[in-house]
Amino acid sequence: MEKKFTLPGRPKKRLFIGMLALTTVLASVVLYGIWYIARLGLAEIAEPLPLVVGGLFALLGGGAMLAILNMVLAVKGWFYLPFLQRQTYELINVLFPVAVYVAKIFGVSKRNLEGSFIATSNLLFNRLGIKVPADRLLVVTPHCLQLATCPHKITRDPNNCKRCGGCDIGSLVTLSEEMGFHFFVATGGTLARQVVYNTRPKAVLAIACERDLMSGIQDVYPLPAVGVLNIRPNGPCYNTHVDMAEVRAQLEKIIIPKEQDNG
Ligand code: SF4
Repeated sequence: MEKKFTLPGRPKKRLFIGMLALTTVLASVVLYGIWYIARLGLAEIAEPLPLVVGGLFALLGGGAMLAILNMVLAVKGWFYLPFLQRQTYELINVLFPVAVYVAKIFGVSKRNLEGSFIATSNLLFNRLGIKVPADRLLVVTPHCLQLATCPHKITRDPNNCKRCGGCDIGSLVTLSEEMGFHFFVATGGTLARQVVYNTRPKAVLAIACERDLMSGIQDVYPLPAVGVLNIRPNGPCYNTHVDMAEVRAQLEKIIIPKEQDNG
């Protein structure tokens, strides 16, 4: 029987990009302030030092702005520079904790901001038109997707699932057999990284909460990763669910159909 859950709302991509841009502007103002206060002292140490430090700060601020502009162009579907993606992820890593504080001032929760990052990242993934053969795709889910009272050990081998219908693991195992992708249930980031290392996929589809997807997508980079948010009718990390229709739709976008796969 099909289960009914309240699906999470779609976070806006512009929320994340807007907060990141605002944080970059604030960080640039702070850098300018530091430079302005320190410039006379720097000049006493060595005459060209204010220019060198000022140039370095300007380069950091300008580079960050360029990375954000590039992200906006990619999200809009216009011309952008894919090679700047690494810098963008690094920028996100550095500025995200500050962006969380900035967002709080505007009444935006960390969860919403992370959700917006995932929506942006997924859109970029789809814009890049990434497609891989099923056997080069890894689908990873957290352990909390398994029914808490289920006695079967599925973390080392999901095929131990008896597909009783008690949770979504059974449907995912069936789907992995039908479509041919690798499917694993990970108990944490370390095991997830180990699974990525062992299966050597060309792309990853991860099912998790906002926080884990956010860190996971950045962790596996440069491996392209797409995230599907889990559903938590029982609170976090306990008997969670996933919208199977959304998973299937994403898989159909990523997997190259067998008849088109020439190796
Ligand atoms: S579907 Fe599989 S993992 Fe879920 S409760 Fe049933 S046997 Fe356990």
